[in-house]
Amino acid sequence: MTEKGISDCTRTLLDGKQMMEIPTTTNGWTFTDDEIGHLPKFPIKCRICDTAMFMRHSSVGHKEGWDVAVNQICYKCPVCDWFITFEVRRPIEEIDAILEHRGGKQRLVPLDMWLTHEEEELIKEKLESLGYV
Ligand SMILES: [Zn+2]
Repeated sequence: MTEKGISDCTRTLLDGKQMMEIPTTTNGWTFTDDEIGHLPKFPIKCRICDTAMFMRHSSVGHKEGWDVAVNQICYKCPVCDWFITFEVRRPIEEIDAILEHRGGKQRLVPLDMWLTHEEEELIKEKLESLGYV
Protein backbone atom coordinates (compact mmCIF):
# COMPACT_ATOMS: atom_id res chain seq x y z
CA MET A 1 0.00 0.00 0.00
CA THR A 2 1.33 3.38 -0.96
CA GLU A 3 -0.03 6.65 0.35
CA LYS A 4 1.06 10.12 -0.59
CA GLY A 5 4.01 11.23 1.52
CA ILE A 6 4.67 8.01 3.36
CA SER A 7 5.76 5.71 0.55
CA ASP A 8 9.23 5.35 2.08
CA CYS A 9 7.86 4.21 5.42
CA THR A 10 7.53 0.59 6.36
CA ARG A 11 4.43 -0.76 8.01
CA THR A 12 3.94 -3.59 10.43
CA LEU A 13 1.03 -5.22 12.19
CA LEU A 14 1.05 -4.84 15.94
CA ASP A 15 -1.74 -6.19 18.14
CA GLY A 16 -4.00 -6.38 15.13
CA LYS A 17 -3.66 -2.69 14.37
CA GLN A 18 -1.74 -1.36 11.44
CA MET A 19 1.11 0.79 12.71
CA MET A 20 3.49 2.96 10.78
CA GLU A 21 7.16 2.68 11.64
CA ILE A 22 8.73 6.08 11.60
CA PRO A 23 12.01 6.04 9.66
CA THR A 24 15.07 7.04 11.66
CA THR A 25 16.12 9.53 9.01
CA THR A 26 14.31 11.52 6.36
CA ASN A 27 15.68 12.37 2.94
CA GLY A 28 13.51 15.23 1.73
CA TRP A 29 16.10 17.72 2.90
CA THR A 30 19.58 18.64 1.68
CA PHE A 31 22.34 18.82 4.31
CA THR A 32 24.06 22.18 3.73
CA ASP A 33 27.06 21.57 6.03
CA ASP A 34 26.88 25.12 7.40
CA GLU A 35 24.93 26.91 10.13
CA ILE A 36 21.66 26.65 8.15
CA GLY A 37 21.83 22.85 8.36
CA HIS A 38 19.06 21.69 6.04
CA LEU A 39 17.14 23.10 3.12
CA PRO A 40 14.08 21.44 1.60
CA LYS A 41 14.31 19.59 -1.72
CA PHE A 42 10.76 20.78 -2.37
CA PRO A 43 9.20 24.25 -2.55
CA ILE A 44 7.56 25.45 0.64
CA LYS A 45 4.55 27.54 -0.27
CA CYS A 46 1.82 28.80 2.00
CA ARG A 47 -1.34 26.64 1.87
CA ILE A 48 -3.43 29.73 2.57
CA CYS A 49 -2.14 32.25 0.01
CA ASP A 50 0.45 30.30 -2.09
CA THR A 51 3.32 32.66 -1.19
CA ALA A 52 6.87 31.28 -0.87
CA MET A 53 7.62 30.85 2.84
CA PHE A 54 10.90 31.66 4.58
CA MET A 55 12.82 29.94 7.36
CA ARG A 56 11.83 31.59 10.65
CA HIS A 57 14.16 29.57 12.86
CA SER A 58 15.76 26.18 13.34
CA SER A 59 16.77 24.23 16.43
CA VAL A 60 18.98 21.15 16.50
CA GLY A 61 19.51 18.59 19.21
CA HIS A 62 19.37 15.02 20.44
CA LYS A 63 18.99 13.20 23.71
CA GLU A 64 21.46 10.82 25.29
CA GLY A 65 20.86 7.29 24.07
CA TRP A 66 19.08 8.32 20.91
CA ASP A 67 20.50 7.05 17.62
CA VAL A 68 18.93 9.88 15.66
CA ALA A 69 18.74 13.60 16.15
CA VAL A 70 16.35 16.28 14.99
CA ASN A 71 16.55 19.61 13.24
CA GLN A 72 13.28 21.35 14.00
CA ILE A 73 12.79 23.85 11.19
CA CYS A 74 10.02 26.45 11.20
CA TYR A 75 8.77 28.36 8.17
CA LYS A 76 6.53 31.40 8.10
CA CYS A 77 4.45 33.05 5.39
CA PRO A 78 5.43 36.73 5.01
CA VAL A 79 1.92 37.62 3.80
CA CYS A 80 -0.60 35.87 6.08
CA ASP A 81 1.73 34.67 8.90
CA TRP A 82 0.84 31.00 8.50
CA PHE A 83 3.51 29.04 10.41
CA ILE A 84 4.67 25.46 10.01
CA THR A 85 7.24 23.23 11.72
CA PHE A 86 9.20 20.34 10.22
CA GLU A 87 11.05 17.82 12.38
CA VAL A 88 13.87 16.61 10.17
CA ARG A 89 15.35 13.41 11.60
CA ARG A 90 19.01 12.98 10.72
CA PRO A 91 22.05 11.05 12.02
CA ILE A 92 23.62 12.46 15.19
CA GLU A 93 26.90 13.21 13.35
CA GLU A 94 25.07 15.54 10.97
CA ILE A 95 23.28 17.40 13.77
CA ASP A 96 26.56 17.70 15.71
CA ALA A 97 28.20 19.23 12.60
CA ILE A 98 25.44 21.87 12.47
CA LEU A 99 25.92 22.59 16.19
CA GLU A 100 29.63 23.09 15.54
CA HIS A 101 28.90 25.50 12.65
CA ARG A 102 26.63 27.44 15.04
CA GLY A 103 29.35 27.71 17.68
CA GLY A 104 27.48 25.38 20.03
CA LYS A 105 24.18 27.26 19.85
CA GLN A 106 21.21 24.97 19.19
CA ARG A 107 18.97 27.68 17.79
CA LEU A 108 19.47 29.67 14.59
CA VAL A 109 17.37 32.70 13.66
CA PRO A 110 18.44 33.52 10.09
CA LEU A 111 17.48 37.19 9.95
CA ASP A 112 19.02 37.57 6.49
CA MET A 113 16.50 35.05 5.11
CA TRP A 114 13.55 37.10 6.42
CA LEU A 115 14.26 40.47 4.91
CA THR A 116 14.74 41.86 1.44
CA HIS A 117 17.91 43.87 0.90
CA GLU A 118 15.84 47.10 0.92
CA GLU A 119 14.20 46.19 4.25
CA GLU A 120 17.58 45.31 5.72
CA GLU A 121 19.01 48.70 4.60
CA LEU A 122 16.02 50.53 6.08
CA ILE A 123 16.46 48.81 9.45
CA LYS A 124 20.21 49.52 9.35
CA GLU A 125 19.52 53.22 8.67
CA LYS A 126 17.04 53.39 11.56
CA LEU A 127 19.48 51.69 13.94
CA GLU A 128 22.26 54.05 12.84
CA SER A 129 20.01 57.09 13.42
CA LEU A 130 19.40 55.80 16.96
CA GLY A 131 23.13 55.34 17.51
CA TYR A 132 23.15 51.51 17.64
CA VAL A 133 25.47 50.84 14.70
ZN1 LIG B 1 0.23 32.92 3.42
